[in-house]
Amino acid sequence: MTDPTSPFGGFAIDFGAAGDAAPLAVPAHAPATDGPLETSVLILGSGPAGLTAAIYAARAGLAPIVLAGYQPGGQLTITTDVENYPGFPDGIQGPELMARFRQQAERFGTRVVDVEADRVDLSGRPFRAWASGVEYRGQAVIVATGASALWLGLPSEERLRGRGVSACATCDGFFFRDKAVAVVGGGDTAIEEALYLTRFASKVHLLHRRAEFRASKIMQARAESHPGIEIHRGVTVDEVLGEESVTGVRLRDVKTGTTSDLAVDGFFLAIGHRPNTAPFEGWLARDEKGYLVVEHETHSAIEGVFIAGDVHDHRYRQAITAAGDGCRAAIDAERWLEEHGTVEAAGGATAAAW
Ligand code: NAP
Repeated sequence: MTDPTSPFGGFAIDFGAAGDAAPLAVPAHAPATDGPLETSVLILGSGPAGLTAAIYAARAGLAPIVLAGYQPGGQLTITTDVENYPGFPDGIQGPELMARFRQQAERFGTRVVDVEADRVDLSGRPFRAWASGVEYRGQAVIVATGASALWLGLPSEERLRGRGVSACATCDGFFFRDKAVAVVGGGDTAIEEALYLTRFASKVHLLHRRAEFRASKIMQARAESHPGIEIHRGVTVDEVLGEESVTGVRLRDVKTGTTSDLAVDGFFLAIGHRPNTAPFEGWLARDEKGYLVVEHETHSAIEGVFIAGDVHDHRYRQAITAAGDGCRAAIDAERWLEEHGTVEAAGGATAAAW
């Protein structure tokens, strides 16, 4: 249901819809090896934190390389209207906002590579990261790999993923025109997804396991007053029904334990996120929730390795706070590099490129 060729992780972005602004160019897919592999500042992740770090590092003349990750642009590329990012009084679509971040970073000399870092070596400088078998080196590293959507973990959910089960209303909502869908979750994301889906679906069932919503009051009020949304409180999902595609969900009443089937054609997950920390296992400490631990300001416990955005922040988790964090990390990295200079690779890599 998504477009794997898109650099924005499955979205056809209508750049022409940006009001009076000039259309944004979709960045070309340059081969991973077509450009420098060494930099002063290697940035992992391309959400608001990573790309803001890139803008600052690039403007400081540090020619950063950004390894964009499996979802270039980060979580905002799978969201819809962003109404709380300052500077956009009428709101802006998440994918368009991230395209603008990227264009701004590239304008000042950032190299953004659409690859996912799967392994790092932070034992000494230059720090190293591998993506698709290519080694990248940085005198400093900014980790801004963000967080990813959670799934319920049901076998039926896994089996029907892409056949009616989705964690992205923006990507897949279009396919449910005049059909009934369900959204599970009680936070802002769930309500945002439910509201978005009313543009297409004949009916949106919002399924929440508790009576009280975690979402902000304004979002909750919007869902409650929307004629296209029916809210089911105190229910969990036992199973997603259907053989070839979704035909319904089996709900369990948490108080009585009784089950009932609800006919829907689409099932959307909006139950939160997990930080993307796998490549840093054994290098960077994690807290009890699995988020990376920041020692002071944006510094990790490893000198020269900095952390920004949702990969460590489970309190605020906003685009604006991630962007602010990316700015802080870039300034910290720049100052740290000023103090510590550069170190040549043992293999004789040239420092001239830095
Ligand atoms: P969230 O606030 O953590 O909410 C997750 C929801 O999923 C909770 O209601 C939780 O239920 C439910 N849930 C978790 N695991 C579940 C399971 N296994 N089965 C059923 N339900 C489950 O996550 P979020 O909605 O993605 O929001 C994350 C952050 O982003 C928040 O700070 C939010 O304010 C922010 N955000 C802001 C906007 C906006 O301002 N426009 C939009 C989206 C997100 P319980 O409530 O019972 O724990």
